Amino acid sequence: MRLDFHTHCFPDPLAARAIQKVGHNAGDLLPHTDGTLDGLAALMRRQGVDRFVVLNIATNARQMKDVNDFAARMNEREEVVGFGSVHPKAENVMEELERIKALGLKGVKFQFDYQGLYVDDPCMKPIYRKIAQLGLVTMIHAGFDYGFAPPYMAPPERIANALRWVDSPFIASHWGGLSCAEGVLKHLCGLPLYFDTSYGYGAIAAPTAARILEKHGVERFLFGSDCPWHTPEMELRLLGSLGLSESEMDRVCWKNGAALLGLDREKKTEDLTI
Ligand SMILES: [Zn+2]
Repeated sequence: MRLDFHTHCFPDPLAARAIQKVGHNAGDLLPHTDGTLDGLAALMRRQGVDRFVVLNIATNARQMKDVNDFAARMNEREEVVGFGSVHPKAENVMEELERIKALGLKGVKFQFDYQGLYVDDPCMKPIYRKIAQLGLVTMIHAGFDYGFAPPYMAPPERIANALRWVDSPFIASHWGGLSCAEGVLKHLCGLPLYFDTSYGYGAIAAPTAARILEKHGVERFLFGSDCPWHTPEMELRLLGSLGLSESEMDRVCWKNGAALLGLDREKKTEDLTI
């Protein structure tokens, strides 16, 4: 079984424009799908992915409801795990977190460069606490974002600082921080958080990826692609070159993430009913 913990798509009517705009801002990246959920699901199927987490961002307070309703609609598809998003400065942020839980979503994604605050901004303390209370997972965009000029809002040392307030599963995407490998090795490896492998291919040197994997531990890694910007095949090519055993690959590509999202328990329930 294979779980991709980091993918994106957009509502059908917005997909063509949204994907063009995001791709352009990130250096005119060519997307690997048409930006829709159907396009994403087809690519995942072709590349042997059984389940995938879809991430969206509320870039302002007004968008929160629509973003989370979209995630809930996607979540109805068996292969999809939809994550919600809140804007930290929204007046009703706590209520929206409760609604995310009530909608059956498993986690919350933050992209602090789009949202205009640091990962360790003091306003995040009660938000991380609330997420823990609700039993949700936190995912953040970590490190550089090619669509923005510095300073970046979630560099490794600030993520380490924010972790003081975190008491629930926390994922720093892109190997702990896009284009921040030395900072990740220095400030984050070994701390109680997960890294996903998304957008690693071609962006991180294989020997550096191997050092991060070795220092942080296979049990805290989640396979992710960042599709439509990269594909599962691209990330498997990098991951497969790092000398992991078959059972370690299975942990990264399925078991760690399935345990985090309760997919392994779902499976057991299904088995019992047969
Ligand atoms: Zn992404």
